[in-house]
Amino acid sequence: MSDHAFATRAIHAGQEFDPTTGAIIPPIYQTSTFVQDGIGGLRGGYEYNRAANPTRSSLETQLAALEGGSAALSFASGLAAEDALLRGVLKPGDHVLLGNDAYGGTYRLLTKVLAPWGIETTTVELSDVDVIRAAIRPETKIVWLETPSNPLLKIIDIGRIAEIAHTAGAIVVVDNTFASPALQQPLALGADLVVHSTTKYLGGHSDVLGGAVVFGDDRFFEQVKFQQFAVGAVSAPLDAWLTTRGIKTLALRMRQHSENAQAIAEWAQSRPEFETVFFPGLASHPGHDIAARQMSGFGGMLSLGLAGGSDAARAFAESTELFQLAESLGGVESLIGYPSEMTHASVRGTPLAVPENVVRLSVGIEDVGDLIADLEQGLARLSR
Ligand code: PLP
Repeated sequence: MSDHAFATRAIHAGQEFDPTTGAIIPPIYQTSTFVQDGIGGLRGGYEYNRAANPTRSSLETQLAALEGGSAALSFASGLAAEDALLRGVLKPGDHVLLGNDAYGGTYRLLTKVLAPWGIETTTVELSDVDVIRAAIRPETKIVWLETPSNPLLKIIDIGRIAEIAHTAGAIVVVDNTFASPALQQPLALGADLVVHSTTKYLGGHSDVLGGAVVFGDDRFFEQVKFQQFAVGAVSAPLDAWLTTRGIKTLALRMRQHSENAQAIAEWAQSRPEFETVFFPGLASHPGHDIAARQMSGFGGMLSLGLAGGSDAARAFAESTELFQLAESLGGVESLIGYPSEMTHASVRGTPLAVPENVVRLSVGIEDVGDLIADLEQGLARLSR
């Protein structure tokens, strides 16, 4: 599969037809256990669902192929994937350098769940090379970054960070949820591991929760696989199957998400109600050149800073119709959110706090004219 283009891999990797019936779509192996031919005589290598399941295996093959990785593991949620990765790679006394615009749940996991077990975390501005160099210590094991970041769409140069981290003996983990592998391939840029909330673009239809770790090589696979097996936060067969089905249209969807978001960002720039438009596809975005180099499209996420402050932002978030007010992102339908009281409420008052005049849009793949009209009617309601 590795010699095929992305869109082909998304449809065919791990998706062999069922040899017993000829069914073109691999079945959902909705089973908790597998019959053995005598003790230890495993028919297809499968024993018990927490260890492995064929539906999950086919998703894992597909995920590894999409990111150009050596293997992947599929979990019940993005945070379950992050937790297994961190517990598999780190030991007490280790230090993590986290981008200061990371997803709030990652910060909460590191500082509230793992800190009492001896993992220390420092948040830093990862676009400043001197700041990173100063913050890396001998105990720093992981530099963890998101690009584009959630929700301020900061762009980080993955190759540059990998150089610095590797020189200091640390590894680089990229949360590739916002871009998806259709637009950005962190392993090829020098990252060691990739994590996903597959709940978002990979699933793509807001109907399943899931997460993944993708491995650049076999250094950490056994440790993280052991965490997955020992703790059991695996994706269920139906969830794995839904994610696989979503992935087959990922390349198409990401093109349309990117095109719609670009049009909305350009429209928003012309509106005085917005003092800032956070979107890497705009030439005025500070990370535009890096994004143009390391991504093949700018994605479907954008954030808007309302000139009228937090009251205007809250009112705008409640004023749209096609953009439904909800957490999450990456589905075919457009969503609007108010991060400081929704997705990022847990980081209020921390270095990761989101400005209170910001709303976040997950731009769907509806007709973009309808989407802009919806945002326009939302703005009209503000001025009433
Ligand atoms: N990473 C990013 C960038 C996210 O936006 C999210 C969820 O919003 C997660 C990780 C966590 O994923 P999940 O909600 O599937 O646990």
